[in-house]
Amino acid sequence: MTLKKTIIRGGLETLYFSGMHHLMRPLFGGVGAILTLHHVRPSRPDTFQPNRLLEVTPRFFERLLRWLKRARFDVISLDEMHRRFIADEFRRRFVCITFDDGYKDLKAWAYPLLKKYELPFALYIPTSFPDRLGELWWVALEAVIAQNSRIGLLIDGQRQFFDCGSVQEKRDLYEAIYRYLRSMKTEDELRRTVRDLCACHGVDMAGFCRDLCMGWEEITELADDPLCTIGAHTVNHKMLMKVPDDAEVHAEMAMSRAVLEAALDTRPEHLAYPVGDPTSAGQREFRIASELGFKTAVTTRPGVLFRAHRDHLTALPRISVNGEFQRKRYLKVLVSGTATAMWNGFRRVNAA
Ligand SMILES: [Zn+2]
Repeated sequence: MTLKKTIIRGGLETLYFSGMHHLMRPLFGGVGAILTLHHVRPSRPDTFQPNRLLEVTPRFFERLLRWLKRARFDVISLDEMHRRFIADEFRRRFVCITFDDGYKDLKAWAYPLLKKYELPFALYIPTSFPDRLGELWWVALEAVIAQNSRIGLLIDGQRQFFDCGSVQEKRDLYEAIYRYLRSMKTEDELRRTVRDLCACHGVDMAGFCRDLCMGWEEITELADDPLCTIGAHTVNHKMLMKVPDDAEVHAEMAMSRAVLEAALDTRPEHLAYPVGDPTSAGQREFRIASELGFKTAVTTRPGVLFRAHRDHLTALPRISVNGEFQRKRYLKVLVSGTATAMWNGFRRVNAA
């Protein structure tokens, strides 16, 4: 991942400084883009923060909003984006702002800024999070490694021990275990392994959900604001491609919509696939979301939107506003579509 990050960063710098994104904009700029954010909060001083890519500072977020206001984009809701696709109306390029998971810092830091600039946004909620049953396993893994200098991990039923005293060892071990977990065939296996890790090292996984995620009361308050669209993000936030049973995938999507509808009195019409990369959401998931009648569903595959996405509205790409790239010029390049076009091998629609 570090290598990949370096390549992306290097690529972006080159693109920016060569000014190539200006030349290619008419070709690859597309009709609009959907931005993905997770946390918006002041940065912490810790040296070991493997999940930092999921957060941006309020200061960067405000610069982003100001730039969006000034640039010639319409910042629109997901419903309006859907309407434009159906009406084939793309006179002006648009941007949608979306947040995944429903963290408390959104309410504290991002929401006041969205209000200030009067910009619509969407929030994708996994219903187990406000129900306080969510397992934020990536945060739990970070805590286990941060708090210990040696950990025992169950691998094929055998406990193996790893040293993680130094910051570099912690980073390397996080990376290795993260990759090991993501390579597992089922999400259940992943969850079992992290639960065991937490139990052995005295980390309370349920606590992260309580401390970091909004409860129903806070979500209801946001949902009452016309600027806010609440979208579904399944019940248990599982990588759906790692769920063998079609019926369970169907239930994860349908149940989360039903729970949100009951809590908020509005039926969610938009969905985000948890994790959302090509190992987490594919053809089966796109089909089921479409069968369930979601107007749109978003992945985390990188890319801008083209007219042709009209035929793939449940497999939309997004641009991640990544904490590792908190410079406005990176975002300019990403939104121009040049970087993601290269990433996608210049295929416009990547919905395979
Ligand atoms: Zn998520």
